[in-house]
Amino acid sequence: MRILIANDDGIYSPGIAALADVALQFGEVRVVAPDVERSSAGQSITANRPLTWKRTPLAVEAWRVDGTPADCVALGISQWSGVDVVLSGINLGSNLGNALWHSGTLAAAKQAVLLGVRGIALSIPASTDEPDFAALRPSLRGVLELLLASHEPMLVNVNFPGAQARGALWTRQSVRFYDGKVVPGTNPMGRPLFWFVTQPISEAEEGTDRWAVEHGYVSMTPLRLDLTDERELARLGADVRTIATQGESARSPAR
Ligand code: MN
Repeated sequence: MRILIANDDGIYSPGIAALADVALQFGEVRVVAPDVERSSAGQSITANRPLTWKRTPLAVEAWRVDGTPADCVALGISQWSGVDVVLSGINLGSNLGNALWHSGTLAAAKQAVLLGVRGIALSIPASTDEPDFAALRPSLRGVLELLLASHEPMLVNVNFPGAQARGALWTRQSVRFYDGKVVPGTNPMGRPLFWFVTQPISEAEEGTDRWAVEHGYVSMTPLRLDLTDERELARLGADVRTIATQGESARSPAR
C-alpha cells in the first residue's frame, strides 16, 4: 500500500513524524508537506506562481513544498504513481464541527478525494504541552487498522480525544454552533487590529464529532464533497424558471 502523508502544521511538526512512524507498519510511506505552518488555509491552492519542493531529512522520503496543504497533496499524487491513501496530520488541534470549513488538515484529505484517492484526516487536541505521541501509538495503530482494512469511506475525519481513548465511534459533524469570532484591539502604534479567534463551545449534540471527543472516544466522521442541499433542491424543483435574459440597457428605450 502506498501512503502519502501531508499536514497543515508544516513538515517539521512532531505530528507528521508520529503519523509516518506508525503508517510505516501499513505500507510504503512518503511525506509531502508545507514548508511552514498553514493551519486554517482551507483547501486553497497556489495558482498564480509555480510550486517548488525540497528534499527534507525525515525517517521516510520527505519533501517540503512552498505551498498549501492542498498543493502538497496534488503534487504528491502527481509525482508518485499509485498512491492508495492520503493521511493528513496528526494535526496539533482538534478539527471538529464547523472548524472543518477552515481546516487545512481536512482540506489535504479532501484534495486527495478530488483526485480520486482516499483521504483520512487525523487530529488531536492542542494543549500547552505537546501531545504524548508515544502513548497515542496504540490507538493510532488501531484506527488505521480499522480504516485501512476497507476501501470505504472515501473521506474520513478522525479526532482523538487525547493519547488515551475509550474506543472509536462513527459520528456526524456538529454544525449547530460556530466558534469563530473577530476580536478587535490596537497595535503598539495605536492602530486598530483584529484577531480571528475561536471561543469554546459548551454544548455538543449526542452522536456528533464533538460529543464523541468530549466523552473520551475517537471520533470518525464519514464526509462527502457534495455540498448540495438535497432537501432544498427537492423543494425547489427541477423545472425551468422564466428569468430576464437581457439587461435594461439592451432593451430599446421606452418613449
Ligand atoms: Mn494545523
